[in-house]
Amino acid sequence: MEKFVEYVLCPSDKGRLRNEKDFYECEKCGTKYKVTNGIPNLIPDEAENLHHKNTNINRK
Ligand SMILES: [Zn+2]
Repeated sequence: MEKFVEYVLCPSDKGRLRNEKDFYECEKCGTKYKVTNGIPNLIPDEAENLHHKNTNINRK
């Protein structure tokens, strides 16, 4: 997995992702990506939450 992280880049700013214990952290924007089964999930939870919030507000 160490080789894998070398070419994993942050999808929003192409920053390098640092391997922490249970997640990868972008060196540029600090976004943390969870690792599931050894594979980093490159969809930031915060962005996902914001998207759902906005969708709800627009619908109401
Ligand atoms: Zn980033």
